[in-house]
Amino acid sequence: MKILVCISHVPDTTSKINFTADNKAFDTNGVQFVINPYDEFGLTRALWFKEKEGGSITVLNVGSAATEPTLRKALAIGADDAVRIDAEPTDAYFVACQIADHAKAENYDLIIMGRESIDYNGSQVPGMVAELLGWPFVNACVGMETEGGTAQCVREIDGGKETVEASLPMVIAGQKGLVEEKDLRIPNMRGIMTARSKPLNVRPALEAAHRTEATSYEKPEAKAAVRMVDAENMEELVRLLHEEAKVI
Ligand SMILES: Cc1cc2nc3c(=O)[nH]c(=O)nc-3n(C[C@H](O)[C@H](O)[C@H](O)COP(=O)(O)OP(=O)(O)OC[C@H]3O[C@@H](n4cnc5c(N)ncnc54)[C@H](O)[C@@H]3O)c2cc1C
Repeated sequence: MKILVCISHVPDTTSKINFTADNKAFDTNGVQFVINPYDEFGLTRALWFKEKEGGSITVLNVGSAATEPTLRKALAIGADDAVRIDAEPTDAYFVACQIADHAKAENYDLIIMGRESIDYNGSQVPGMVAELLGWPFVNACVGMETEGGTAQCVREIDGGKETVEASLPMVIAGQKGLVEEKDLRIPNMRGIMTARSKPLNVRPALEAAHRTEATSYEKPEAKAAVRMVDAENMEELVRLLHEEAKVI
């Protein structure tokens, strides 16, 4: 199976989030970037497909040169080659157009993406890619098996699971369940060394429209300080809940 795994380059989940002085952009100073966690589940599932059936795994990012260490990490984990489409990913539709344009020329059987990118949390790109290609799409995918040209996918739905069948080529947006956290692979020294010589092709971006523009960002209000009330002082607790918190 020829698989494309789309990798979003996102701030480490422990990063302190700040914006630039005009609040118009995310301040990347001092931020460590990692493979989007949902994409790591997808990459591991792709490795399982390859180990069972053969084939190849290409990882792709739409981004600037700053994302290359993230792509090299995906190569160290086991992808065969990488593609970076050279552009600032400033809009989900723009990113989807780049991915779909690349995929049209490459005859992939399967495109694995994440359910959402944990930075801008749009959950938009996978559905747009499927639509642009005219391929079936399964969102929130927690399990997938293939037989011949057919895929059985399990997706999480409210209060349960749904199994759907679709024909390849197709797009899935995956999450934990495709594989479990314990299955994720940490690059070993051999992987890191071989990743250095695996191809990382940089392609120019397609001219495509941006449909949205973020005009400002704001952080949630800081949480108020905790007030400690003596366990014996029920009257004071009731007064605070009534007069200050106004919840009773
Ligand atoms: C400098 C900068 C400026 C930005 N300005 C804006 C803005 O003005 N308006 C706005 O809406 N957004 C802005 N963004 C965010 C950018 O649009 C999103 O990162 C991108 O469009 C992904 O959209 P999403 O959150 O919907 O991704 P999702 O749909 O949540 O991502 C789901 C999956 O799609 C794939 N994917 C997503 N992004 C990429 C990628 N770049 N390369 C490869 N695969 C990917 C991954 O598999 C990911 O798991 C900006 C980003 C940067 C770096």
